[in-house]
Amino acid sequence: MGQFDKSALPVAIIGGGPVGLAAAAHLLKKGEKFIVLEAGDSVGSSMLEWGHVRMFSPWQYNIDQAAKELLENTGWMSPVENALPTGRELVEEYLLPLSNLPEIKENIMLQAKVVGVAKKAHDKLKTRKRDTVPFQLYVEVNGDTKVIEAKAVIDSSGTWTNPNPILSMVSGRMRRENYTIRFTMAFLTSNN
Ligand SMILES: Cc1cc2nc3c(=O)[nH]c(=O)nc-3n(C[C@H](O)[C@H](O)[C@H](O)COP(=O)(O)OP(=O)(O)OC[C@H]3O[C@@H](n4cnc5c(N)ncnc54)[C@H](O)[C@@H]3O)c2cc1C
Repeated sequence: MGQFDKSALPVAIIGGGPVGLAAAAHLLKKGEKFIVLEAGDSVGSSMLEWGHVRMFSPWQYNIDQAAKELLENTGWMSPVENALPTGRELVEEYLLPLSNLPEIKENIMLQAKVVGVAKKAHDKLKTRKRDTVPFQLYVEVNGDTKVIEAKAVIDSSGTWTNPNPILSMVSGRMRRENYTIRFTMAFLTSNN
């Protein structure tokens, strides 16, 4: 077990698409703290970019079971199982209602773009005691870069805006923060 208080920190979910929100629903059902960090103005913002296109999988395969149970508790009706939604319909009829559940809504940060993930005070070459420190996510919010600590990270940033996943990379002590973030961003850019 690590030496930080894991019960005090959330699981950080990168991306508020269908996978990120399904993860949030499961964590909520398990009583775990979580935070969803979504780069766009809305949940499902990548899907909205192709919102006019009809999906190839019907509703029954697009709705997560934990999310469905949470929604049905509020009187939400599942769409016709074998109908094919457009991207926009999936966002408006499923992701938005899910994200508006109070217990989920209060844990979503919009316009919050994760630009790096690291282990606190550890660079990539340090392996000893990595499990004793939390993750640190570098998050661009309103032109600032915030550091958010988490006990675990779920990368559900999808492939629409990220051909490669966000990988764990350098960290740094707070005084090296600016250097670290620039390095991190350069790394991301060079892999996109
Ligand atoms: C035209 C088209 C049709 C498709 N039809 C289907 C289909 O019928 N069935 C199917 O299963 N799949 C389909 N897909 C694939 C579909 O896009 C994915 O299954 C689904 O969107 C994956 O969900 P996701 O949550 O993993 O990723 P996404 O939907 O891509 O969501 C990722 C979210 O993460 C956010 N994000 C990205 N980077 C960051 C960051 N650094 N920091 C914070 N937030 C970030 C994005 O803004 C986005 O909201 C289709 C894709 C396209 C393009």
